[in-house]
Amino acid sequence: MPVTMDTLVSLSKRRGFVFQSSEIYGGTGSVWDYGPLGVELKQNIKRLWWRDFVQSRADMVGLDASILMHPMVWTASGHVDKFTDPMVDCHECRHRFRADHVDARPWTHYCPATKGNKFVIPAGEACGHCGARRTLCPECGKGELTAPRQFNLMFKTFMGPVEDEAALTYLRPETAQAMFVNFDNVLQSMRLKLPFGIAQAGRSFRNEITPGNFIFRTREFEQMEIEYFVNPHDTVEGRPADEWWHDRWIADCMAWFRRYGLREENLRLREHEKAELAHYAKRTVDIDYLFPIGWSELMGIANRSDYDLKQHSKFSGKSLTYFDEERKEHIVPFVVEPAAGVDRALLAFLADAYQEEEVRGEKRVVLRFHPELAPVKVAVLPLLKKREEIVRTAHGIRAALSRHFRVVYDDTAAIGRLYRRQDEVGTPYCVTVDVQTVGDRDKGESGDGRVTIRDRDSMQQVRVPEGELLPVFRGLLEDGDWGAVVARFGGVTADAGRSREGDP
Ligand SMILES: [Zn+2]
Ligand SMILES: [Zn+2]
Repeated sequence: MPVTMDTLVSLSKRRGFVFQSSEIYGGTGSVWDYGPLGVELKQNIKRLWWRDFVQSRADMVGLDASILMHPMVWTASGHVDKFTDPMVDCHECRHRFRADHVDARPWTHYCPATKGNKFVIPAGEACGHCGARRTLCPECGKGELTAPRQFNLMFKTFMGPVEDEAALTYLRPETAQAMFVNFDNVLQSMRLKLPFGIAQAGRSFRNEITPGNFIFRTREFEQMEIEYFVNPHDTVEGRPADEWWHDRWIADCMAWFRRYGLREENLRLREHEKAELAHYAKRTVDIDYLFPIGWSELMGIANRSDYDLKQHSKFSGKSLTYFDEERKEHIVPFVVEPAAGVDRALLAFLADAYQEEEVRGEKRVVLRFHPELAPVKVAVLPLLKKREEIVRTAHGIRAALSRHFRVVYDDTAAIGRLYRRQDEVGTPYCVTVDVQTVGDRDKGESGDGRVTIRDRDSMQQVRVPEGELLPVFRGLLEDGDWGAVVARFGGVTADAGRSREGDP
């Protein structure tokens, strides 16, 4: 059965992935805080995206622009005029709704046919007693709604000490515009040849009227965007270069999500209809994911033509062109924009990783994160916390591995419980140190210097010399090939779960 949003929200809070913002004050509207494990997961997503789409490619460079930009940026981009939703207000309770969402919610009705009794009627349905349909405010059931007014989704703020019109600016609603505005700076400083792309990951802000569904739609969020510039006069495999690259980016982005664990059956492409396309877009394709709320957009890949560079050139009076050496002409590049939300990607990875299974009659919750995404890579667990050599050895392993990955030490419960805790947050490997590792001086026995690695997914265990841990984990975290470790070290045993020495 697919995981529900409630399950993910509760796991996220309980295990330190995501907290409601300002919770002790009752929370703030649709903003969330990433806890100790959430921040690791989020950083891993951004790091892998950067590594795969920027670091490892010769045709990509990065940018980290400011959130506050010149207000003209948003006039040129069309956000001041067009980044709006139609809103209606209730005269009575002052509740504000998106005009196009009013009929999509249950409505409150004081029914005249039943002495004014209050009913809450499902969205779009009529009253079963009097046959009335909703005309008043769906929230309070009493107030008239205003006519729709356009409401801009950008957060306004003031730059400097005077709060007047001249100081008005905005928190950026997207990271994309900074890449267009810096097009010439990047081109000149890096001496780039088309096609090339600029990537940026950072925060954006949208004063959404109906945000919600946990971290799916929030007012403050993080984006990972790429603007890939192409010469529209070029052809690749007989097709216009912008169209060829658009398809290539769609395929590459799909492959990226699959590579880090999203299941094929939970992903699909959705082509935007002509009527749905933004006026500047030549074509847009979404990658949809089967979230707990149903199929929804995970990311969009748009062919924005030369619209943005032309707009900024027009409004700034600066030339934003590229000199085509071959044809000896100045051209305005076309741009393909793969735009992903970090928070949405995190929600998708979390939902896809979540599994409940039965192990020896007990429920096991496990997050099957790709090892590179997992917030914690290795947990080091001493089998007996009263034995000083065991504890010292375990701390030593944690310290040594921590220089390379996120590693934790835990001795606050019995081993079975410790394994389950790590399963629940997706830690791919545990290391246990036991009496065999360190030996028993009282009995004159020396240890074998081997520790146990336990694999999250198969729950198999293999004993490995302590000195081999770093190279073994380096390999495992890269390719997750547990079979290779088993083949090399042998002696597989099953995770002993509850009935292990050291359990109370
Ligand atoms: Zn009625
Ligand atoms: Zn109302």
